[in-house]
Amino acid sequence: MTFDVTDPYTVKSIKRFNKKLYKDSITGCWIFTGTVASNGGYGQFYFKGKQIYTNRFALMIKLGRELKSRKYALHTCDNPPCCNPNHLYEGTHRKNMSDAAHRNRMIGSINSGNFQSGSKHRNALLKDKQVLEIKLAFLSGVTRNELADTYNVSWHIIDNIVNGRSYANINIT
Ligand SMILES: [Zn+2]
Repeated sequence: MTFDVTDPYTVKSIKRFNKKLYKDSITGCWIFTGTVASNGGYGQFYFKGKQIYTNRFALMIKLGRELKSRKYALHTCDNPPCCNPNHLYEGTHRKNMSDAAHRNRMIGSINSGNFQSGSKHRNALLKDKQVLEIKLAFLSGVTRNELADTYNVSWHIIDNIVNGRSYANINIT
């Protein structure tokens, strides 16, 4: 497939694509709000008669070309539906795996306590790890109600977390 950003059909498709992005001010992620694949949470977009993954499409727009063969559109944010061009780079799958492992270790360091913690507050209901899980789950489409049930807290607590009004120090890196 050729990808030409001056082609009128492609320009129209890019506009249609951009309308489906929700820009999350907390994480900086641009979340695709259209169809999302059931496995993995990657967005799917219809382009030139084919389904294409939205992270791939977003990276093609950024680069102005099709990705090289055997290359993937990889995330620096580990957030499958994210289409922020600044969170995407072209790379191999192997690189992606080692990056993910590195980031998991960083999240692990939050749990081990060498981190100025939101849950050290006396009345904190949730541990930092749970807050991080809630933020990630919300971005991948789990509703506030479902999260409130899962973590046995009120809808308002979840709402405050996903809007960054509480636990603002706990971020998805
Ligand atoms: Zn992102």
